[in-house]
Amino acid sequence: MYPRKPDWKAPESAADFTRFIHQSTIGDVQGPFACHAQLKYKAIDGYRSKPAKALSYGTAWDRMQYAVAGTTGPYATKPETLDGYFREKQKSGEDMPEKDVKEVFDQVWTEEASELEDLKEGEKDDLLKRGFIAIGGAWMDIAKTLQPHKLHTEFSVPMQPDQDGDEWFLRGSVDMSAYKGDSDKPHLRDAKTSGKSWSLGVADNKVQAPHYSIGAINSSSLEGVDPDKFTFEVMVKNKTKANVSEHVVKIDDLMRTTHLRRTAIIRDIMRMLWKTGDFLPNRDSMTCSRSNCGYWSACEREFGGTVRGVEV
Ligand code: SF4
Repeated sequence: MYPRKPDWKAPESAADFTRFIHQSTIGDVQGPFACHAQLKYKAIDGYRSKPAKALSYGTAWDRMQYAVAGTTGPYATKPETLDGYFREKQKSGEDMPEKDVKEVFDQVWTEEASELEDLKEGEKDDLLKRGFIAIGGAWMDIAKTLQPHKLHTEFSVPMQPDQDGDEWFLRGSVDMSAYKGDSDKPHLRDAKTSGKSWSLGVADNKVQAPHYSIGAINSSSLEGVDPDKFTFEVMVKNKTKANVSEHVVKIDDLMRTTHLRRTAIIRDIMRMLWKTGDFLPNRDSMTCSRSNCGYWSACEREFGGTVRGVEV
């Protein structure tokens, strides 16, 4: 069976289960990736799935930049940080030398990759090389235009109590708020790694940007941040060369209100799931396959049938 997350405490009531709504939970409940069985394995059983390659690479990229505490690979039980590019820049006001940035990336990716069983021959070095190219090119150009304001800031915003009087919260963790060029206000940023170019239509723009914007407006830890602008910093590791680009999303009241209403619906779905116990599998979910869902074997055992694809 799967190992549990360290210090896992299973929710004990519907209020417990729905109290903390992180932006990733929204995708777990609703939308093309939703699967309620997967939500149960993660949020109720607390199972840790095997580390996935894409996630581990993204974590290495985040850690190189922000020194975010690790949660996967060797950091699952030892989530200490090392200083990343922006942490150093925040402390010293200086850009970290390119060779040091590459060294940090080499170290964290090597550590993350040591836990992966599905790397093909040469893949680890190939991805490392792509990261180096990205660091040496566009990313260094973007990073030099930024002055960090806050790094890795958690927020937890109390919302209206529900019909039973239970409290609930919007929760999240912002990679960075930063001044860009000579802007007079910092704004929110988030780093992504992607296999292909980012599109302005992707779900993150509609979910993560307003979710964090609500966090910025209501949270003293992000006071002074411009809540109407959000930048995704996307590292694309495509077949020919890696590159990094910025995608700026404008957020308005309609997006925030829509997000709050969507989140209230998601809370109600979660309450219903808790009460009925009907955490049904969704084999049509876009992430449902033996290679993409870490819980596929538990799912086959519990619900029967065959999950498509091959285990990698
Ligand atoms: S294997 Fe598919 S149906 Fe089962 S938990 Fe994973 S995503 Fe859901």
